Amino acid sequence: MVVGGGLAGLRTVEELRTQGHAGAVTLIGAEIRPPYDRPPLSKQLMAGAADDTSLRDELGSLGAVVRLGERATRLSAGVLSTDRGDYPFDRLVIATGAQPVALPGPGRQRFLRTIDDALALRERLVAGARLAIVGAGWIGAELATAAAGRGCQVSVVEAGQAPLAAAVGAEIGALTTDWYASAGVELLLGQAVESVQDGGLALAGGGWLAADEIVTAVGVRPEVGWLSGSGVALENGVAVNEMLESSVAGVYAVGDCAAFWSLRFRRRMRPEHWDVALRAPAALAANLIGGAKPYDPVPYFWSEQFGRMLQYVGDHRDADRLVWRGPAGGDRWAACWLTGDRLAAVLTVGLPRDLQQGRRLIESGSEVDADRIADPAIQLREAALT
Ligand SMILES: Cc1cc2nc3c(=O)[nH]c(=O)nc-3n(C[C@H](O)[C@H](O)[C@H](O)COP(=O)(O)OP(=O)(O)OC[C@H]3O[C@@H](n4cnc5c(N)ncnc54)[C@H](O)[C@@H]3O)c2cc1C
Repeated sequence: MVVGGGLAGLRTVEELRTQGHAGAVTLIGAEIRPPYDRPPLSKQLMAGAADDTSLRDELGSLGAVVRLGERATRLSAGVLSTDRGDYPFDRLVIATGAQPVALPGPGRQRFLRTIDDALALRERLVAGARLAIVGAGWIGAELATAAAGRGCQVSVVEAGQAPLAAAVGAEIGALTTDWYASAGVELLLGQAVESVQDGGLALAGGGWLAADEIVTAVGVRPEVGWLSGSGVALENGVAVNEMLESSVAGVYAVGDCAAFWSLRFRRRMRPEHWDVALRAPAALAANLIGGAKPYDPVPYFWSEQFGRMLQYVGDHRDADRLVWRGPAGGDRWAACWLTGDRLAAVLTVGLPRDLQQGRRLIESGSEVDADRIADPAIQLREAALT
């Protein structure tokens, strides 16, 4: 039984069938809509270049019982309860994703998580509309890009000292600040929001930002509240081991809701990346049908903002130094994090080849020469010492 009809849930069912599992499979999803893709919601769909991001034309060929519009509410020994009934299971996969964090205040705040959120918001993004986005993270930046392209007056309010600071640090995030101005987007940095009110944002320090529409994009939380009292250990999501199995035997988790143990990085991680929801189900399905296949990725993420493609691979949280590959800034640049003599993560802007070569260096765990990394005339792969 799989709970959560997003990418991770759907891919789990697909992988079970691809890998030859012939037994009964049920997919339960809270949304009425069949599984769809989320990354285009803040990009192509918001820009008006797509209306439908469905992941499959039809679900019939999955060979699964699909129960949409049904929400899991409780888990107890071998039984999943939903708002419609109780279902005993042999194995359970939790793929309930994540939900946006809301700000205090009585005013209307929108989010950008579901396709219905996106379609409703897009209708409001008409030329001249004043849009306030709280949070200059990945989603805030992508939404600002699309809204500015639609002729809206866009303001982005960010509590940190730079865009993307929480994800990649203020030094790197600061390199994206000019992108906002070039797109005609107002960026207010170091500005916390106190509350969302009718017609605008009450800013900490007493300021006021008037807006016709307010979108809160300050991050998400794993959707695991329904598991309280289930005995499943939670640690910023469902805590699972490298096999994606939780503290309760036979109960697994995958995708945005799962905090898995990374053998490679020796830490728990919950990357909130599309690539994880896409690929982890292959390992998970193997484990569900009796295998023992660790999921041990080098996490990968991309973002499209202000006409640029950003790509990030690895995990830099334990890194001890940052090495710029050539001068920082401009249209194309890359930053590399090292832990000791090994590459831990790479962020590229418009340099997909560096991204690919960096990914291979991280995967191989080779020792690298920092001076070669810093020289953009030398291919990144040639930084390997072993
Ligand atoms: C606007 C947007 C843009 C993004 N862009 C990028 C990008 O550019 N690059 C990138 O790497 N990642 C991006 N992401 C992140 C990526 O989409 C997610 O990592 C991915 O969708 C996670 O898939 P999931 O299946 O784990 O969770 P979800 O997609 O959240 O699916 C979980 C499903 O479970 C359902 N559910 C929740 N609770 C219950 C319950 N109790 N019972 C039954 N069902 C339940 C939910 O309704 C939902 O349908 C973006 C996300 C968003 C929202």
